[in-house]
Amino acid sequence: MDHFDYRDGELWCEGVALSAIAKAVGTPVYVYSSATLERHFNVFQDAFKGLGVGEPLVAYAVKANSNLSVLSTLAAQGAGADTVSEGEVRRALAAGIPPSRIVFSGVGKTAAELAFAVQTGVCEINVESEPELDLLAEVAARLGKRQAIAIRVNPDVSAGGHAKIATGKSENKFGVSFAEALRLYAKAESLPSIHAAGVACHIGSQITDLTPMREAFAKMRGLVENLRQHGHRVERLDLGGGLGVPYFNQPTPPAPDAFAAMVAEVTQGLDVQLAFEPGRMIAANAGVLISEVIHVHERPEGRRFLVLDAGMNDLIRPAMYDAYHAISPLKEPTGDASLVTYDVVGPVCETGDTFTRDRDLPPLGSGDLVAFLSAGAYGAAMSSEYNSRPLVPEVLVKGDDYAVIRPRPSYDEMLAREPMAPWLKA
Ligand SMILES: *Cc1c(COP(=O)(O)O)cnc(C)c1O
Repeated sequence: MDHFDYRDGELWCEGVALSAIAKAVGTPVYVYSSATLERHFNVFQDAFKGLGVGEPLVAYAVKANSNLSVLSTLAAQGAGADTVSEGEVRRALAAGIPPSRIVFSGVGKTAAELAFAVQTGVCEINVESEPELDLLAEVAARLGKRQAIAIRVNPDVSAGGHAKIATGKSENKFGVSFAEALRLYAKAESLPSIHAAGVACHIGSQITDLTPMREAFAKMRGLVENLRQHGHRVERLDLGGGLGVPYFNQPTPPAPDAFAAMVAEVTQGLDVQLAFEPGRMIAANAGVLISEVIHVHERPEGRRFLVLDAGMNDLIRPAMYDAYHAISPLKEPTGDASLVTYDVVGPVCETGDTFTRDRDLPPLGSGDLVAFLSAGAYGAAMSSEYNSRPLVPEVLVKGDDYAVIRPRPSYDEMLAREPMAPWLKA
């Protein structure tokens, strides 16, 4: 459920008409709903209440949508943060997420990033390889600290979904094998600057089938039991993120409570604290990208292009992951308007700048506004200024109020970021 709906013939976000935001801020623009962010986080957190030792840690995956106001909205609900760079750790801290709820993941953390995380006192660093364990041990020892870690395991399951977001097969770069995990865990326990707290996995993203997750989690349970048989203490089991959301023409994902019921079954009686790293599931449906139609270009050969002012630099998912977003006109379509088939494209000079082909939409023309739905995750966070298009702005709605939470840079600001090499100055 989200808080975007038609009212009086127009698409609204909570108590604000999206056309009002488009008018005030210009297009393209991302708009997020506070109530939807809060609701998704709480639905997820509530689904796992009482499971495992203590309360589960729900560490929102910052990379899905890392805007400070979004993070701060979630922090106020008690969210932790799953981070993959020093920049993300800094964002989480700036948004008021305490280090005791920050997890630091990622395949290639530098010594400087590890030192920053250790000094910050993050609650868990997910170690993805032996060289990383060695480096972290050295860094923590130098700082006179003992850092809690989880060993990230690659459970070697296929999670379905797009190959570019599958992370849980042994050919992917993420994590270590089960055999390696046993050896590294023992090694970690022997290192005085390391506290081996648990094990972690994350098998992919936009997963819409519980079967591969169940398979992976059962293997993780086996690993915890195996580690304990070898005399190791295992306090935490981090099951990652990856739960899918409904996108246009895509399989319907399981609801969070069905996911939680599966987790409860697989982890029953296992004496560990559970941790989760949901990103997309929290942020995707809480955001839309609003764009204006520049014109409709009909080619004599028959294709009809709906040319928008949003491009692949603003929303790269269709180009990168063959993803599809539902597209809704901001003016509510009247029931009797017959649909028109469009190829929906952006202005960027790449054939890949195509949001979808052969989409049936109500008739649209120059100046009309449309919204890409479910664009709150991996949307603005992956945007760029390719083609020297100023970075897309972001707006957060709360009730009847809204605020620009990342302004669109002016052209002057955009150019001022690049000091001319002194020998080129006139
Ligand atoms: C990307 C990522 C997540 C979040 O994935 P979603 O599909 O957005 O839930 C969680 N954990 C790790 C380690 C990740 O890399």
